[in-house]
Amino acid sequence: MTPNATDRMTALVKTTPEPGMALESVPVPEPGPGEVRIRVESVGIDGGAEALIYDWHESKRHYADALPQLFGHEFAGTVDAIGPDVDGVATGERVAVEPIVGCGHCRCCRSGSFAICPDRRILGLDTELDGALAEYAVVPRETIYPIGSLSADEGVFLELLGLAVRGIERSGFEPGDSVAITGPGPVGIGALVAAVAGGASSITVAGTDADRGDRLPLARQLGATRTVVTDDVEDGLEEDVDVFIEAAGHPDAFSLAASSTRRGGEIVQIGIFHGAETVPVDLTRLVRRGVSITTVYGRRDSSWRRAIAIAGDTDLSPALGPSYPLEDYEDAFEATRQREGIKITLRP
Ligand SMILES: [Zn+2]
Repeated sequence: MTPNATDRMTALVKTTPEPGMALESVPVPEPGPGEVRIRVESVGIDGGAEALIYDWHESKRHYADALPQLFGHEFAGTVDAIGPDVDGVATGERVAVEPIVGCGHCRCCRSGSFAICPDRRILGLDTELDGALAEYAVVPRETIYPIGSLSADEGVFLELLGLAVRGIERSGFEPGDSVAITGPGPVGIGALVAAVAGGASSITVAGTDADRGDRLPLARQLGATRTVVTDDVEDGLEEDVDVFIEAAGHPDAFSLAASSTRRGGEIVQIGIFHGAETVPVDLTRLVRRGVSITTVYGRRDSSWRRAIAIAGDTDLSPALGPSYPLEDYEDAFEATRQREGIKITLRP
């Protein structure tokens, strides 16, 4: 049933500047010109965004003046209503959503790099763009990507996989290259999946002691040829790799990358250094060894198409879930705190 403008929906809203969120009944949003409405089937909890907002972490308190606010920026579902001036989309189409919306006319946007647009806004994170921790979400038409028969949880994972694919795309990676990855969280696991699909000859995944019991075995399940704990390899990996994907966003992880990338190789920095304002780098050593450093933020159109193709060919199930009904959100955020699974999702 397609709701009317007077219909209401359940949404998980950040209502007050303190830990937690609350289930509320709010109006179902109506798509305006150039927009579509999605019946949300799955929405991910990002450990660096919704989880910190839920816990009211110090780094997220700038949202205080904007509350109440509806967050949720990794999501997939079915198009159920189409606004005026929208072509090429049909209701019933299953889609995932690119949460970063560029201005559309700056040099970055015109060259396809909308993710680094200086005026970018992020669905479900910017105060004026409602997110998807709700039964329905309205999004600009240009943000949706058809996912065909992929599951909604796979659709949620595409946002991370697309970022990892972008890292591979932007580097000089070629099939047969050796790869190392630090940080077996959602982005690092996405990088692993992308490297396997790209034909890497070997893939080493490095984690911390806390990853020993679950995330490193999961990395092996998804195709890592070797897993290591960073404390055990302080002097660097045994063999230098062609491409080192740093997805942990920790100064020690960058040090490992700097000491374990071959001469003429490349470090791809995807991890965000939360809490570290500056990162010590022995740049001279990297220069003398001809090691390149490439940074990656967000996706491009091509990253989405490649990620969708990879997801269709890969069993992503070890990286998906656990999944909770929206009303069990407290359990889901607790599971995120306990680092259960890789991509925890809610089903509105
Ligand atoms: Zn722009």
